[in-house]
Amino acid sequence: TIGENLQRAVDRWPDRTVLVDVAAGKSYTYAEFGALSDALALALLADGVKVGDRVGIWSPNCAEWMITQYATAKIGAMLVNINPAYRTHELDFVLHQAGISVLVSARSFKASNYAAMITQVRDRCTALRRIVYIGGDFDEMLAAGATLDRTRLDQIQLGADQPINIQYTSGTTGFPKGATLSHHNILNNGYFVGEGCRYTEQDVICVAVPLYHCFGMVMGNLAATSHGACVVYPSPGFDPEATLAAVTDYRCTSLYGVPTMFIAELALPNVADYDLSSLRTGIMAGSPCPVEVMKRVIAEFGMSEVTICYGMTETSPVSTQTAVDDGIEERTSTVGRTHPHLESKVIDPGTGLTVPRGTPGELCTRGYSVMLGYWEQPDKTAESIDSARWMHTGDLAVMTEAGYLNITGRIKDLVIRGGENVYPREVEEFLYQHPDIVDAQVIGVPDARYGEELMAWIRMRDGAPPLTAQDVRDFCDGRLAHYKIPRYVHVVDEFPMTVTGKVRKAQMREESVGLLG
Ligand code: ATP
Ligand code: MG
Repeated sequence: TIGENLQRAVDRWPDRTVLVDVAAGKSYTYAEFGALSDALALALLADGVKVGDRVGIWSPNCAEWMITQYATAKIGAMLVNINPAYRTHELDFVLHQAGISVLVSARSFKASNYAAMITQVRDRCTALRRIVYIGGDFDEMLAAGATLDRTRLDQIQLGADQPINIQYTSGTTGFPKGATLSHHNILNNGYFVGEGCRYTEQDVICVAVPLYHCFGMVMGNLAATSHGACVVYPSPGFDPEATLAAVTDYRCTSLYGVPTMFIAELALPNVADYDLSSLRTGIMAGSPCPVEVMKRVIAEFGMSEVTICYGMTETSPVSTQTAVDDGIEERTSTVGRTHPHLESKVIDPGTGLTVPRGTPGELCTRGYSVMLGYWEQPDKTAESIDSARWMHTGDLAVMTEAGYLNITGRIKDLVIRGGENVYPREVEEFLYQHPDIVDAQVIGVPDARYGEELMAWIRMRDGAPPLTAQDVRDFCDGRLAHYKIPRYVHVVDEFPMTVTGKVRKAQMREESVGLLG
C-alpha cells in the first residue's frame, strides 16, 4: 500500500527533503512528512472517517494537498480530486456524485472565494458533514492528530486492490468521469514512471502541473516518494516564471509540464536569466508533444534525458514512455514503448481486430494500471473496458515494427474532409515550422460541400504580424496534400484550455461555427 511504501522511504531517508511548497515557504523531510501524514490520518480516523469513505480535496497545489493524499491512503479512505477551476455547479455535482463526507479545501484561490461557494452548495449535499479549511482547522487537526496513538493506524485492514482514489478526467471531450483507482494501480504506476526517469534519492522534481490531476499526484508525488526523491511545487497555479525560478533556487533535476507549459517557459523574454544547469530529466505529456518543443527543451533547458509519457487518467495514468537510451528520433517524435507489465494493441475500431504494424487504429491498454471502473457509472465503464479487460482509449495510434507508438489524435478529433481522413496533429506539427507561429490547433468545422473543412487557430510569436488564411495556405502549398491545408485561419492570444493545460477542441469547434456565421 501507499502507506507502507512511504514508511520504507521514511526509514531509509529520514533526513532527506521530500517536499517544498515554494509559495508557502514550507519544506519537510521524509521523517517530518511521515509524521504529518500520520497525524492527519489519525485525526481523520478520530473524526469518524472509515475505509472507503470519500474525502474530497479542493485546492490548488500546496503542501497540505500532498499530506492529505498520503493521510487518506493510510486509512483506506478514498481521496476525491476536485478541479480547482470548478465553480458551484460543478462542485455541487462532484460532491453528490462521489458522496463526499469530508472536504479538505482552500479558502480561496486567486479571485475565487471557495468558502463562499461551499456555503452556497452545502445544504444540498447531505453526505457532506465536515469541511476542513487549509490554513485553518487543517492545522488544528494536525496538532490534535500528533497527540494520538499511532498504533491505531496499524490496526486498519488495508488491501492493495481496494479503491482509494477517484480522479476525474480532464473533461477535454465532455463532462469529466471519475476513474476509480487502487493503491496497486497508482503506486506501481508512480514507481515505473520514476524508473523511466531514472530517479534516485538525489532527484528534485519541479511539479508545475496540477496535483488534482494524475500528472501531479502520481507521476510527481508517488514517483518521488517511491524513489526517495523530492517534489517542489513552484506556485499554486501554473506560472512560467515561478517555475523556472524554482528550478534555479532548488537545483531541480527534473521538470514536468504539458506542452503548452514548456512553450510558455521557452517564450519568457528573460529565460536566459535562469540557471537551469541542474536539469537532467523531466516529463512532457498530456497532449501531443510537438517535436520542435521537445528539441528546444533538450537543447535550451539542458534536459538531455527528458521523456515523453502517454496515458490517461483511467490507466493510472502512464502506459508508454520514451526511454533515455532511445534514439533522438524516437525520443522526440513518439510516445515511446509500452511500460513494464502492460500491454498495448492497436485495433480497427469497426471490427475490433488488431491492425498490422504501421496502420492507424484505436489504441487499447491492458494490465495492472487499468482502473477499477468509473465511479458509479457502470454503463460508461462497460463502454470503455471490454470483457478481456482491455481499456479502449479513444486515441488513434500507430505502432511501429519496433513497438514505438505514435499518437495521431483522438477518434473524436479526426476530421473527415471529403472522404479523406485528416489527423489534425499532422497539420499542427507542420504549422509549428512557420517561424512566426508559436502554437497551432487544427479542428474540423462543418462544411456543406466537403462535410468538414479544416480550420487552424494560431498564436503568433510576440511582435509578429497576424497571418491571414492566404499566408498560411501559401506556406502549406506544395508541401502538404491539398486536403490537409486549412481553409480558415483564426489568430488568437490563447486557446480555450482545461486546468490541466489541454486545449478544449470541442469548445473551439463550437466557437468556430459562430465565427464562420
Ligand atoms: P476526458 O476524458 O474527460 O475527455 P482527457 O482525456 O483529456 O479528458 P486525461 O485522462 O487527463 O483526460 O487525458 C488523457 C488523454 O490525453 C489521452 O487519452 C490522450 O488523448 C491525451 N494524451 C496524454 N498524453 C499524451 C501524449 N503524450 N501525446 C498525445 N496525447 C496525449
Ligand atoms: Mg479521456
